[in-house]
Amino acid sequence: MLNISLEDQAREGKRDEASTSAIDVGALEKSFGAQRVLRGVDLRVDPGSIVALLGPSGCGKTTLLRSIAGLETADAGAIAIGGEPVTGPDLHVAPERRRVGMVFQDWALFPHMSVARNVAYGIGKGADTDVRVAGALEMVGLAGMGDRMPGTLSGGQQQRVAIARALAPEPAVLLLDEPFSNLDTNLRVQVRSEVHRLLTSLGVTAVFVTHDQEEAFVLGDEVAVMNRGLIVQQATPSELYLRPASPWIARFVGDANLLPAQASDGHLETPIGMLASGGSYTGAVEVAVRPEDVELEPGNRGVVELVEYYGHDTVYLVSLDGGVSIHVRATSAPAFKRGDRVGTRFIGDSPVVFDPEHIRGD
Ligand code: ATP
Repeated sequence: MLNISLEDQAREGKRDEASTSAIDVGALEKSFGAQRVLRGVDLRVDPGSIVALLGPSGCGKTTLLRSIAGLETADAGAIAIGGEPVTGPDLHVAPERRRVGMVFQDWALFPHMSVARNVAYGIGKGADTDVRVAGALEMVGLAGMGDRMPGTLSGGQQQRVAIARALAPEPAVLLLDEPFSNLDTNLRVQVRSEVHRLLTSLGVTAVFVTHDQEEAFVLGDEVAVMNRGLIVQQATPSELYLRPASPWIARFVGDANLLPAQASDGHLETPIGMLASGGSYTGAVEVAVRPEDVELEPGNRGVVELVEYYGHDTVYLVSLDGGVSIHVRATSAPAFKRGDRVGTRFIGDSPVVFDPEHIRGD
């Protein structure tokens, strides 16, 4: 007979808790008419982490978020929140019973209701409503502002009211759809930092939709890149940038030079010279080289076509003699001018190699 001590059981229990995802989406499908908008989406969100859904317009980000919230009914696949199935074959738990808080693109505050009444809206009327509303407002740094009308608050404060309203019912996860797109550029960066600090200090599990790579990288512990109804890579921002799973992702996430190359014996023959491949590739491959991983020097590999000086760095467009053009980014002020003949030196760790037969993600 197995003799499991209480301590062991407790340890097991803890392990189970730790391995339970906050959100688990499996093979989710959704069509609108003949259009397949979600084509088998898999997504896992760990408790306490912030995941950005990043992808081009129309790829299905909002549909996925709304499906997690229960605002869309999936055609196939499954969703569990905190280990509880909420979507599955013959299962569709109503949005209000999913323990999710939602912050919409336009925040959807009621303009004719006070801040406190807006926040109370999410929890309904009860004996402890006032206490809970005050607690939620304090949590987002708006203590004492309950009597104000939304229109008298700044954009950043209105954003926090929307977050307080979504958090007041103590949801398991917070879902945010393009939460900063309503703000002008300057305010957006400031509010983004405030929200980042707020979510991380509260340990909230959150998924937010964006088509802005910078926003995804700055806020996301992980970024799930979506393209045409699929999540093509889910990884930390740095993994995504340094090890994109496909040429499309390499280009979508930051700038990348995609160069044709011939691989053999651990080497790559590329338009910017011979590079170490860091793998056992052979034959024709594609190589992604970030512009900051190339340095220009006086030499004879190509000609400078364009110089763009941004203050913090300079970007050169170099036309290589073989006919390929590349971008090169240097942190210095311009050292070469249009028409200069230049050489190139690879200064990165190792280039990302895409073997056409083993490309994941597109
Ligand atoms: P964006 O960044 O532009 O908001 P998105 O990635 O969030 O795009 P979705 O809003 O999920 O994309 O839309 C994906 C596709 O599904 C689009 O072509 C859209 O027109 C279509 N779509 C979304 N909702 C509906 C609906 N209720 N009825 C019909 N088509 C819809």
